[in-house]
Amino acid sequence: MPATDFSKGVAFIEDRYVPIAEARIPITDWGFLRSDATYDVVTVWDGAFFRLDDHLERFMQSCMRWRLDPGLTPEQVASVLTKCVRLSGLRAAYVEMICTRGQPPWGSRDPRQAVNQFYAFAVPYVWIANAEQRERGLHLMISDVQRIPAASVDPTAKNYHWNDLTMGLLNALDAGADSVLLVDAAGNVVEGPGFNVFCFNEGAIVTPKEGMLEGISRRTVLEIAQRLGLKIEIRAVPARELRGAQEVFISTSGGGVLPVTMVDNAVIGDGEPGPITCRLVQTYWDLHADPAYSLAIDYSV
Ligand code: PLP
Repeated sequence: MPATDFSKGVAFIEDRYVPIAEARIPITDWGFLRSDATYDVVTVWDGAFFRLDDHLERFMQSCMRWRLDPGLTPEQVASVLTKCVRLSGLRAAYVEMICTRGQPPWGSRDPRQAVNQFYAFAVPYVWIANAEQRERGLHLMISDVQRIPAASVDPTAKNYHWNDLTMGLLNALDAGADSVLLVDAAGNVVEGPGFNVFCFNEGAIVTPKEGMLEGISRRTVLEIAQRLGLKIEIRAVPARELRGAQEVFISTSGGGVLPVTMVDNAVIGDGEPGPITCRLVQTYWDLHADPAYSLAIDYSV
């Protein structure tokens, strides 16, 4: 029998590690039927997890928020994730942990009776912007689609309620933009599909306060900004403020800090990634060598 090829990625499903292309979940899992699930994504760079403890902590909090039980401790989750990465051999990876509602006994519609499921996978690192977009800066469109209100679905607990983000993204792509930002009912920008947003104006870094996921990369940006002695404002950000900003950038585990050079066809600054953004990009990647943020993976065991 040829050895199993895990090199394209590995999934952990029903207590087994399988090549990513063979990973399947039951069609009756409410995670699939109702988007009734939570998840988190941690990255691996140069063979080390970045901010693993923070992602595990947020995952556990999200599970609690949605009354889901992964049935594993954070340490056990970490060891499953590590094994997925180790088997794949990937040195730069996108590693997702998922807890779904599972399914209640046949005929029951009571979520309390469902047997929750834990899944995980590691695949090659995912960039939400390609190399050309990273170099020239992203072109974003501010959508008139509103992000689902926090009173309906708590955005601070990670979830798969993405139809608003996906419809906004489709419209933006059709209009020739690279991605989209959604707004709240008052017209303030909140977040995009998989990222938080910032602008730099009049000496201050500004980012939305609520209505969005509090990204771990957003936290990293705020920590760096503090270290650099930059003024930080966490508050509502009207769409027009973003359009007129000196610099705009986004943060995500799918690429770190990414420059934005056009919003709604208006050029930001001089149309090049701005100096503050470039400094944040550099420092974000430098932190990956800092043991306070990174945990090396032992690939040998
Ligand atoms: N907002 C949404 C809706 C997301 O899904 C994500 C990440 O997947 C983010 C923001 C950024 O979060 P993080 O920096 O933890 O990747």
